[in-house]
Formats: sequence, C-alpha cells, structure tokens
Amino acid sequence: LIVLDGVNKWFGKLHVLRDVNLSVAKGEVVVVIGPSGSGKSTLCRAINRLETIDSGSIVFDGQPLPAEGRALSRLRSEVGMVFQSFNLFAHKTILENVTLGPIKVRGEKKAEAREHAMSLLERVGIADQADKHPAQLSGGQQQRAAIARALAMRPKAMLFDEPTSALDPEMVGEVLDVMTSLAREGMTMVVVTHEMGFARHAAERVAFMADGQLVEIAPPGEFFDNPRSDRARDFLAKVL
Ligand code: ATP
Ligand code: MG
Repeated sequence: LIVLDGVNKWFGKLHVLRDVNLSVAKGEVVVVIGPSGSGKSTLCRAINRLETIDSGSIVFDGQPLPAEGRALSRLRSEVGMVFQSFNLFAHKTILENVTLGPIKVRGEKKAEAREHAMSLLERVGIADQADKHPAQLSGGQQQRAAIARALAMRPKAMLFDEPTSALDPEMVGEVLDVMTSLAREGMTMVVVTHEMGFARHAAERVAFMADGQLVEIAPPGEFFDNPRSDRARDFLAKVL
C-alpha cells in the first residue's frame, strides 16, 4: 500500500533521510523506532506529503504522491495522521472536531457525519464526551478524539508519530489499546513510538532508524531478541 524507494531528504546540509526503502503492505503494522533526530518524524511526514522529498519516490495505493490540489487533499484524508500534540480545534466540541473533515472535505451530509462520528467515539471509548470541548478532556481522551477524527475520513492507512509521548503515564494504555484494536481490525499503520511493548505485540515488523537510514527491519521477535546491527543493539540496551 505504501512504497518508499530510494528516498532522500535534506534540510539544508543535513541529510535527514538517506536512501530509505520501505514497503508497507495493506493491513500491515510497521513500528518505527530509533534515537532522537534519526528522521522518524520526517519519514512519517513525507508519507502524507507534509514534507517534500529530494529524490526517490513514494507511492501510495499505486499512485505517486500528488504534489498539490485535490489529489493532495484526497491523499491527506486517505492517510490519517495522529501527532504527539492532539491538534484538536479548541473552540469546537469533540463531535464537531470529528465531523468537520467529513462534511467539509468529503461532502458528507451532517446527519451521516454525526452518526459515523458517534460510532467512532463509541469505539474509542469517549462517546460520553462528544459535546465537551477539548480542554475539558484528559490528554488520553483528547488523543483518542484525535484518532476518531482521523478515522472519520475513512483512511486507508494511519500514521502515528509518538502519539503517547505527551501523555501522563496512566493514560498511555488507553491510547495504545485503541491503536492495538485498530491494528487487529486490519488497519495499515506506521507507528513511531518509544513504547516497546506495543512494538512487540502489535507490530508485524519493527523498523530501526539511525542517522536518516533505515538500518534494519524485521519482525519484532527477531528484532528484539536478535538485532543484527551494533546501532540497534546499543539503542535497545538503552531503552529496554
Ligand atoms: P525525535 O525522536 O526527537 O522526534 P525524529 O527521529 O523524529 O526525532 P526528525 O524530527 O525527523 O527526527 O528530524 C530529523 C533531523 O532533521 C533532526 O536533526 C532535526 O533537527 C532535523 N529537522 C527536522 N525538521 C526540520 C526542519 N523543518 N528544518 C530543519 N531541520 C529539521
Ligand atoms: Mg519525531
């Protein structure tokens, strides 16, 4: 579903993505780990074209990433993204946050959008918070609302960039639970996270990045028990 081929990206003189090759199959969950500054966020952002790349290609669902226009907005709705900060609209209710995209971008009828939104809020366990504003919710609830908002666009894939890093520890689990059930239901997911337990249990493959390179990629059992590169071994020694 997502194919990166020889992707390079520079920020000025800084070579942040170096010949990255990665292909994510439909329904697959790839967890991306690696030290700070290794290019994990840039990789995610490149996939839904929040960043341009300097060489190589990225193909989503059989099509090269569109540069602009309607095709680009379609791509952005087909590839849902959830960030560390929840980015909800502060002055809208949770329900309005979730229905806005479907109504404005997908042209859904208000009633249809509401019904779908309520079923998604139900699914992430915050249907009872629908009429509140983001600030009235806990961090974990806000992040679950952000996930529901992305799902409301009926995406073909979801990108998560450290979705639990800004949360108090007691709220990490409720967000990971939602992500795990999404993975089990067959959503294609690329997840940047420091949650090694999630990587172990929910990932089909773990990708390790360092200095802009995708150093190794393997099923979690293999990667965690038997990392092939020194850099991955050093990294795991620090985080596990
Ligand atoms: P972290 O774990 O800290 O989130 P990361 O692996 O996500 O790190 P990136 O955010 O992708 O790393 O950044 C990769 C490199 O590119 C870093 O050295 C960062 O400072 C640099 N960088 C990121 N965004 C920009 C930008 N807009 N302009 C210039 N340099 C940038
Ligand atoms: Mg990052």
